[in-house]
This record gives sequence, C-alpha cells and structure tokens, in this order.
Amino acid sequence: MNVAVPDPMTEHMNGPMNGPMNGPMTGPMTDPMTDPMTDPMTKLVTEHMPEPVTEPVTKLKNVPMPLPMNIHDTHLAAARALPKVLLHEHLDGGLRVPTLLALLQQRGLAAPAPDAASLAAWFDANAHAGSLEKYLEGFALTVAAMATPEAMRRVALEAAQDAFEEGAVLAEFRIAPLLFEPHGVSGEAAVEALLQGLADAPMPCGLIICGMRHEPPERTERAARLALRFQGQGVVGYDLAGAEFGFPAALHSRALGLVRDAGLGLTLHAGEADAAVRVLQAARLGAKRIGHGVRLVDALTDPEQAALIDEARALNLHLEVCPTSNVHTGAAASIATHPITALWQAGVSLSYHTDNRLMSCITLDGEAAALLRHTPLRAADLLAMARQAALHSFLPAAAKAAATAAIDRYVTGASADTAPAASR
Ligand SMILES: [Zn+2]
Repeated sequence: MNVAVPDPMTEHMNGPMNGPMNGPMTGPMTDPMTDPMTDPMTKLVTEHMPEPVTEPVTKLKNVPMPLPMNIHDTHLAAARALPKVLLHEHLDGGLRVPTLLALLQQRGLAAPAPDAASLAAWFDANAHAGSLEKYLEGFALTVAAMATPEAMRRVALEAAQDAFEEGAVLAEFRIAPLLFEPHGVSGEAAVEALLQGLADAPMPCGLIICGMRHEPPERTERAARLALRFQGQGVVGYDLAGAEFGFPAALHSRALGLVRDAGLGLTLHAGEADAAVRVLQAARLGAKRIGHGVRLVDALTDPEQAALIDEARALNLHLEVCPTSNVHTGAAASIATHPITALWQAGVSLSYHTDNRLMSCITLDGEAAALLRHTPLRAADLLAMARQAALHSFLPAAAKAAATAAIDRYVTGASADTAPAASR
C-alpha cells in the first residue's frame, strides 16, 4: 500500500503538545487539558474521555432536549422495520440501565440513583446538562461496574442482543480493554471475556480494540498488540478513541503500523473535534473507516478543501456517523442540520450509528427514526447506508455477504416504500 504517512514529528510540531518525542516515552505526555490528578476515579474518567474533548464545555452549551420517541410515530415504525448494520458502538457507553444497576450492586459500588427508572433519568439529565464532567461521570460508572470477566461477558452479549432486536444483521462493538487494568482485570482477560459474550450473539459480531490517543504511544502500541493477539478470534479491528484535538493519529504511528502490517481492520475517530483534514490524514495512515468524520462537511463549502471530498470518495472511505452523539457533544447543532445529509448527498460513503447509547439515551432504531423525521433522508437512503456499512465491515467475507444479502432481500420485498431517495 503506497500511502504517504505524515511524519509524527511534523504532526507533533503542529499540535499543542510539548512532551518529549525522542525515544520511548516513559510517562504520560504533557496533557494540555488537565491538571495532575490523584483521585483514581477521576483519573480513570479522564483517561477514557470519549470523543470530542477540547473546547467541549463551551460547545456543550444549549444542547437540545431529546427527540420525541412516540411509539406511534410513523417514522419510528418505519425505522424499526429496516435491517441495520452497526459499526460504531462503545460497549462501555451502551449498557442496559438495569444491568448497570445490577452490576454496581453486585460489586458493592454506589449508584447515583436507587432504581432503573431514576438511573435512566440521571443519564438523560447528564446527556443534556451541557457539562462534559457530567457526561464523563457515566463512563466512570460503567467501567467500574463492568470490571469483572463475567460482567464483561454479559454486557457484550446484551449489546449484541439489543442490536439484533433493532434489526442489526451484523455488528461491531468497541472498547479500550486497558481501561480495566486499574480495576485488576488484565487486557487479555477483558478481551477474552468480551469475545465470549459476542460469541453467543444471535448474529455475526466483531470486536474493535481501542487505544486512547491522549496516552503515550507505548500504551496504544500495547493495545494494538493486544488486538493482534486476538486477530482471527473475534477481534476485527483497531481504533484510536479519546481526545482528538491536539492528539493527531500520527502520534501513534507505531501502533498503526503494527495494525496495518497485520492486515487488521483500522478505523480511527477523526474529524469530530478537529478539522476535515484529519479525516484524510487518518486515511493516509491506513484507516478504511472513520469514526464520525463530520467536519469533512466543511470541505463542501471551502474551495481550498474541496480536494478532501474528492479524495474521500476516491478512497471509498466510509464514515461511521453518530448523529445524536454529535449533537450532545457539540459537533453538530441539530439532527436537521447534521452534516450526514450533505455528505451523503455529496456521494461520501457513510452510515449511521449509536456511539454511546446509554450516555446519549438513544437506540439504533431511534437514530434511524430521527434521520427520517428531521432530514430529507428516506428509508431507501438508510438501506443504502446499511449496505455500504456491511461492505465496509471488518468481519469475514461470509458474514458481510450474509448481511448484504439480508438487506437486499428486504429491499426486494419492501415494495411499500417507493419514495425517491434523497440522493443516488
Ligand atoms: Zn466513538
């Protein structure tokens, strides 16, 4: 593969980081976002910052209230009927509320609410509080609650069951296994348990291992080696998650090189909290898919960046778009104005996903319904997106072929929906 890989040093010089870059790094890089913290839970949460984390506190202001989820809504009914392909969901961001409560109780950990209904309300309030700190409190809870192999098996299986119930014909889930080490569960034990849970899933599923991009390169390299250790046994890909702005993927070129050389699937969070050019930089580093990538929309209106769209199309780069998550984190103002519509109409390959269904209080059905309700996208578009997602899955060819066949069977049989697509 003849790709131009940016020099990590150059990338570094363009970013705000000041940490040493010569030779192996032995400690945390200088983190422009945080002060030194000693509380283990606070440290855990900070280490697992989800997607956009720079300037988020201001960006999170004025977050809209959740979209209506009337079960009699025709959009929701139409959405529920669609076959789907789930490529982007964080397992530690997607637990069932009753499961989280039960796991916290089993581990003797305090829950912020006494019952499932009030715990769900707590997450809902946090999702719309306009506070990154509130948002991150949820991850501290879920990681602590999941930190036994049995809990991880359960969470992985339930995530797959929930996706299946919503029409997913194929699913990939992701997590950063090294997050559990402070809780006494090794990365290997975590991956083994998660794969055991997914092995019992009712449809083909795969696991993507995340490294945290604000951590030192040797740490993301460890995560990459962990992914390779389970390649062919259910681990299908590698990702860099966490704080995007200030932490370009090229900082982790050693980890990415290992993944590329082994032929493991590579998807990278990019173009969510940082600029459109990051999307193509991630692609040049070997990513076949991009988590979010929504800032690529800026290239549609900026002649100087127009080549980025052409390059994304030429590479058949696939964006894993997470509409409501983007609204909650400030990457998009609303579903109606979300870049997914413009990028799709511009011919960029993409699909829609949940990201963190617990933290955002959403479902995959709900995401599909929101797109049908608030954008010009129609069922035919969502089906075409699902098909593209299946084709870009990192699962084995047979699973991908079965998924596309299931979508095609639905399309062939769904004569009721004859509305013209918004594009194509
Ligand atoms: Zn994500």
